[in-house]
Amino acid sequence: MKISCYAAPAKGAPLEPFEYESRELGPGDVEVRITHSGICHSDIHLIDNDWGISKYPLVPGHEIVGVVTRTGPEVRRLKVGDRAGIGWQSGSCRKCEMCATANENLCDHSTATCVNGFGGYATSIIMHSHFAIRIPDALASENAAPLLCGGITVYTPLRAFDVRPEMRVGVIGIGGLGHIGIQFLRAYGCEVTAFSTSPDKETEAKSLGAHHFVPTSQPGALASVAGQYHFILSTVSADLPWPSYIAALRPKGRLCIVGVPNSDLKIPAFPLIGGQKSISGSPIGSPLMIREMLDFAARNGIKAKTESMPMHRVNEALAHVRANKARYRMVLTN
Ligand code: NAP
Ligand code: ZN
Ligand code: ZN
Repeated sequence: MKISCYAAPAKGAPLEPFEYESRELGPGDVEVRITHSGICHSDIHLIDNDWGISKYPLVPGHEIVGVVTRTGPEVRRLKVGDRAGIGWQSGSCRKCEMCATANENLCDHSTATCVNGFGGYATSIIMHSHFAIRIPDALASENAAPLLCGGITVYTPLRAFDVRPEMRVGVIGIGGLGHIGIQFLRAYGCEVTAFSTSPDKETEAKSLGAHHFVPTSQPGALASVAGQYHFILSTVSADLPWPSYIAALRPKGRLCIVGVPNSDLKIPAFPLIGGQKSISGSPIGSPLMIREMLDFAARNGIKAKTESMPMHRVNEALAHVRANKARYRMVLTN
C-alpha cells in the first residue's frame, strides 16, 4: 500500500509531499489511519540532523493518534475502529531484561518511529501493536496526540524518581513538554514552579497549575530561589546555566534532564558532593507506562493545549515551533 506523507529531503530542508510503499501487515501489526500528529521538538532536531542519526528522506512525526483500520491475526488489544496512539518507540528486542520488566524504552535495541521508519506526518502508518496504545474515551484526539511523546517523557521521571506530593518541584521551559509537566506535577499534589524565558507565559503557566513563575531572563531571578527544590525537570532544547539550577536544588535534590541541550553539561562537582544532589536523564516511557499515563491524564482532566493546522501546512507549523510561538503544541490534522 502506498502511504502519502511529508518528508524532509535533506538536512534542514522544508518538507515536501512524498510517497512510500509500506510493509505488508504482519501478524502482530495494526494499520492506523492518522487523524492527528503532534510536532515535537525532537522532529525538528531530526529534520536538522542535530543528533547525527537522521536518514533522508525523513518523515517526522511520533505523536500520532488515529483510527485502527486493519489488524493482524495476533493482535489482541486493539480492534478495527479503535483510536490508537503511537509515540517515539516503534520496536524493541522484547527479550532482554529491560523488555521483560516493562522497561522497553530502555532496551538497547529500541527502534524509533521516524528514525528507523517513516513517521506520522502521513495519512497512515503500520506499527507493531505492542507500540500502539488505545486512547481512553475521555481524551480528545487532538489533546491526546502530544501525550504520546511529550506527555510520557515528563510523566516517566515522576514515577522513576519517586516524586511525591509534599515536594517543591520546578519545570524549566514551558513548551510542548513543559506545559504538560506542570499539569502532571500539580495533579500529583506538588508545589510547582515554572521557569521560563517568556514572561508572557506566566498567566497561562499558572492556569495550567503552576503555583509560582520564575522569569529566568531577569537578572537575579534564579539566584533568588536558591536551595528550594526537591526536583527540577528541564524540558529545554538549549544550553542552560546548569550551576544555577543545581544551586536551586535543596540538599538531596535532583535535576532531571529530558530536553536535549546543544552541548554536554559542565557542572561543578562540589555543590553535588556537598549537597548530595543528583543529575539524571530520562527517555520517553514503556507501553505500560504510556497506558498508565493516559489513564492518569484522562482521570485528572490533563490535556495538551494545542493549536492545529491541516497537514499540508506543515512547513508553516514547523516555523511556528522553531520561533517558540506555539501555545503549546502544534498538531497537524488530516
Ligand atoms: P518546545 O515545544 O520547543 O519547548 C521548548 C521550550 O524550551 C520552549 O518553549 C522555551 O520555553 C524553552 N526554550 C527554548 N529555547 C530556549 C533557550 N535558548 N533558552 C532557554 N529556554 C529555551 O520543545 P518540546 O517539544 O517541549 O521539546 C523540548 C526538548 O525535549 C527537545 O530538546 C526535545 O528533543 C526533547 N525531548 C526529549 C524526549 C526524551 O525522551 N527525553 C522526548 C521528547 C522531547 P520558555 O519560553 O518557557 O522559556
Ligand atoms: Zn530489549
Ligand atoms: Zn518527541
